[in-house]
Amino acid sequence: MSPPLDIHPLSAWIPATGGPPVIAGPCSAESEEQVLETARSVASLPWVKVFRAGIWKPRTRPGAFEGVGTEGLRWLQKARTETGLLLTVEVANPRHVEEALAHGIDILWIGARTVVNPFSVQEIGEAIGGRDIPVMVKNPLNPDLKTWLGAIERLHAMGHRKIAAVHRGFSFFNRSPYRNAPMWEIPIELKRLHPTLPVITDPSHICGSCELIPATMQKSLDLEMDGLMVETHCCPQKALTDRNQQLTPAQLAEQLGRLVLRRETPGEGFEQKLEELRS
Ligand code: PEP
Ligand code: MN
Repeated sequence: MSPPLDIHPLSAWIPATGGPPVIAGPCSAESEEQVLETARSVASLPWVKVFRAGIWKPRTRPGAFEGVGTEGLRWLQKARTETGLLLTVEVANPRHVEEALAHGIDILWIGARTVVNPFSVQEIGEAIGGRDIPVMVKNPLNPDLKTWLGAIERLHAMGHRKIAAVHRGFSFFNRSPYRNAPMWEIPIELKRLHPTLPVITDPSHICGSCELIPATMQKSLDLEMDGLMVETHCCPQKALTDRNQQLTPAQLAEQLGRLVLRRETPGEGFEQKLEELRS
């Protein structure tokens, strides 16, 4: 049994809106126009309070687009000045942390390829130091709850209290319609072990294509997960990364509008849901 985590609720760092908190924005920041156009369009949607964009992209093979780097942080700052959205980017090392925080990024996330390395998680946690910056921890590529949990516990042990898990699905050998199999039992077990830990669903990396996203978002709400991170691009067909899974802001608006909210406050009634699923 893991010792309980003293974690602040999501509403301590993402303003509550009466619906699931939504983090929207492109897989990658590509140009100032793309960042600003996308941010303006998602800022008016209900529940969207945070704008995401990858600045440094972990690519499987060299030579692919690896992100625009620091310049993109300045575009994000403009997006926040215009829209008031909070900003989040992926960080994989202490240099990323320093640059992101020097540019006023509000929330950091650790990606699926970085979270597997305890040295990296330790260095990122240390680089943030005593600064009051929330950290979202994606699940590792492989379906390994202990590694995911270990990264969260490591940050907690270093004094971080604004932590959320992000469920982005798992690489799995069997053929599946998903890019990364959701294996919902893993985030459910994470919540059972640590009921105060917010878990945000990333349907974009779970699904890999736009058609599967609405059902996956609904499933996330039905399972009482705490929020959504959805890749959204002003012009997905021109995207430099993850082209097939990015929604347009109009598609996101439509799909959010069709979600059935069964409870007023996400996160409540999780134990009851678990009992229902068990039986
Ligand atoms: C991303 O969010 O664009 C990303 C690279 O995610 P992951 O680490 O989940 O693959
Ligand atoms: Mn992506």
